[in-house]
Amino acid sequence: MKKILIVTFIFTMSFILFGCAYNAQEKQLQKFITTHVNKIEPITTQANLTYWDASTTGKTEYYDKLSRLQLGISGIYSNHKEYAFLKTIKESGQVRDARLTRQLDKLYYAYLRNQIEPELLEKLVDSDTKIQEKYNTFRGTIEGKKVTMSDIYTIMTTEKNTPKRELAWRASKQVGDAIVDDLIRLVKLRNKAARKVGFDNYHTMSIVTGEQDVEELDRIFDQLCELTNKPFARMKEELDRILADSYGIAPEDLMPWHYHDPFFQRTPLVYELDLDIYYRKHDVKELVERYYAGVGLPVDDILARSDLYDREGKYPHAFSEDVDRRGDVRILCNLQNTERWMETILHELGHAIYSKYHDRKEPWLLREPAHSFTTEAIAMFFGRLSRNPAWMREMLGLSEKEHKEIEKVSEKYLEFQQVLLARWVMVMYNFEKQLYANPDQDLNNLWWELVEKYQLVKRPPGPVDAGWASKLHFTSAPCYYHNYMLGELLASQLHYHIVHNIFKLESDEGVSYVGRKKLGDYLRTKVLGPGALYHWNDMNARATGQPLTPKYFVEQFVK
Ligand SMILES: [Zn+2]
Repeated sequence: MKKILIVTFIFTMSFILFGCAYNAQEKQLQKFITTHVNKIEPITTQANLTYWDASTTGKTEYYDKLSRLQLGISGIYSNHKEYAFLKTIKESGQVRDARLTRQLDKLYYAYLRNQIEPELLEKLVDSDTKIQEKYNTFRGTIEGKKVTMSDIYTIMTTEKNTPKRELAWRASKQVGDAIVDDLIRLVKLRNKAARKVGFDNYHTMSIVTGEQDVEELDRIFDQLCELTNKPFARMKEELDRILADSYGIAPEDLMPWHYHDPFFQRTPLVYELDLDIYYRKHDVKELVERYYAGVGLPVDDILARSDLYDREGKYPHAFSEDVDRRGDVRILCNLQNTERWMETILHELGHAIYSKYHDRKEPWLLREPAHSFTTEAIAMFFGRLSRNPAWMREMLGLSEKEHKEIEKVSEKYLEFQQVLLARWVMVMYNFEKQLYANPDQDLNNLWWELVEKYQLVKRPPGPVDAGWASKLHFTSAPCYYHNYMLGELLASQLHYHIVHNIFKLESDEGVSYVGRKKLGDYLRTKVLGPGALYHWNDMNARATGQPLTPKYFVEQFVK
């Protein structure tokens, strides 16, 4: 009885303190937030459930319902009067309470992104759909014969004959020339929309409304470039020797079509290691359940709500979904007992625990990851374990001999894969930035300048085409690519901090992360619990003692 009284007293006191502490603007904002969340929460939950139904069944009726709900959501955020209210409140500088400030920022940017006039919005959507349609139905040709992307991948990973490789590579880029004019029109429309709300171009708008800063991204990528210049040149030289040997040519004769991927964004198969043999005898679902429980982040409830196995009509990839920000978190997978699915389910459950362990006492608007790249970082942190020899040894009960064998190849593979990714993202980030800054420049030439600079791949002889436009991300996920890299950087920064400051070890050698409850405790209190309570870089600093830096990524992978 006494206890209850004290609790009530404290609650009343803090309520009074809070109530009194709010100034006029803060009170107005709190009222706005309450009304807004009452509207947005039910429709968001509905949309999430509908997305789940659509993805698990593939039925058109759910997709139709989903687009209606999404229109409803963007309808709420496009309200001019509400945007004007938030803008005035923000510019007043009177909102001082930390929680309110964070909610204000999130709301303000969400409204800002949606302040596009209906006519312009319609043009944008039309243009986007048109390109995606063209893209989906276009088939490249080799000597007049239509080929699919999977035909092209087969040639690029197996064919030894150079002229045949060149034809396949060129076929993969043909769609670029077919859609580039539409894409440039779309870029200009996006710029027009951005200028109407006061930005110099759409790239800047995307970065700023995504709570990032162009100068800071430039600094991070410049530093990453500098730190990987020499290691990448060394790895590339070694790779070139191996590849040239396999084609019976000299390294200096290697052209873009000699790499195993149209954009040289994936590790050539010369370093590929087949880990499936170790997973075949295991049940990847049982492994993740046991693993996450062992680090104090149990996922049995998530798995019980999830859709894990392949079925007709079901979405063929994987994702994690926070349905209601109240604990209904699910993942979708198409599990097989292979290394790829081991990685995928570890990854998706990384997203899922981020959502599950948000502190539910925080306001609804802050029960989200600090940023989309921070949840990617947690997912990558766990996903990387599927290739970690120490983790595999403990989880799969491997012999010392097997462990040594994996260690020998995996280090080199990981090093190459990660550094190559960094160099590729530099091309994408810098190209996109310049594309929106000036869409009328010689973009085909710019693309090859960046590829030569960052990926050390030679441009083909003769006039260059718009092959770059065959990267669909320019259309469907504009100005987002850099976040994949930021996720990797943060995953490494967390890794370093946990090994050195939480586990208090001298190095990460042999660290398996198996059965370490301290890992779960740390992540829950420093990263997952606070959700979006802090700006992502503030969260980084609180969790690792410093802002985001590429230093630890390089330290982890460049040996
Ligand atoms: Zn992910």
